[in-house]
Amino acid sequence: MARYTGPVCRLCRVEQKKLMLKGDRCKSDKCPINKKRSAPGKDPKARPGKRSDYGVQLREKQKLKRIYGMQEKQFSLFFDRALRMSGITGENLFVLLERRLDNVVYRLRFAASRSQARQIVLHGHIQVNGKRVNIPSYLVKADDVIEIRERSKGLVVIKEALKEFGKSGVMPWLQLDPDALKGKFLVSPRRSDITDLADIKEQMIVEYYSK
Ligand code: SF4
Repeated sequence: MARYTGPVCRLCRVEQKKLMLKGDRCKSDKCPINKKRSAPGKDPKARPGKRSDYGVQLREKQKLKRIYGMQEKQFSLFFDRALRMSGITGENLFVLLERRLDNVVYRLRFAASRSQARQIVLHGHIQVNGKRVNIPSYLVKADDVIEIRERSKGLVVIKEALKEFGKSGVMPWLQLDPDALKGKFLVSPRRSDITDLADIKEQMIVEYYSK
């Protein structure tokens, strides 16, 4: 299935939720959700209709999939893997998504958004434990060291993104040395640690795939 290449803000407007798909740039006043733009193709004056249970579950799944910039096939493979792990499936799914290398690169502030992080990984600017890895879905594990390759350390896009580290740091399961452009994935987060996605109802996603 082809990757979505249209305007990303449209995806947020469909969900009527800030999915932060442009990363730090979403904090700008120009965000269409802040301006209360209606969903694409919907009359702004129309009253929202009632959604079926299936519709609610589908939208929740779409939100999470879009936040992590994944396509359906890969997202459902991640769900299958979460299902096979011990513990609570919805929480396992979050842990797996957080372990994706493109997500870790974003969380370490080496990129301003997950889509930019994906490009940085694909273009071979990242190494994990001293070895180049260019697979965005590569799963990072506890104590892995993620760093910008020596020849890529001068990239303006990475320096610009890193400015955000000075403002808000990194998530508690990560550690970053901004001068060395080197970070560590200390431990897999618990669901409750992923506070910026606290409003996603993972149980709905589990119900969606259980049908
Ligand atoms: Fe979504 Fe960001 Fe666009 Fe707002 S600015 S609609 S949060 S992608």
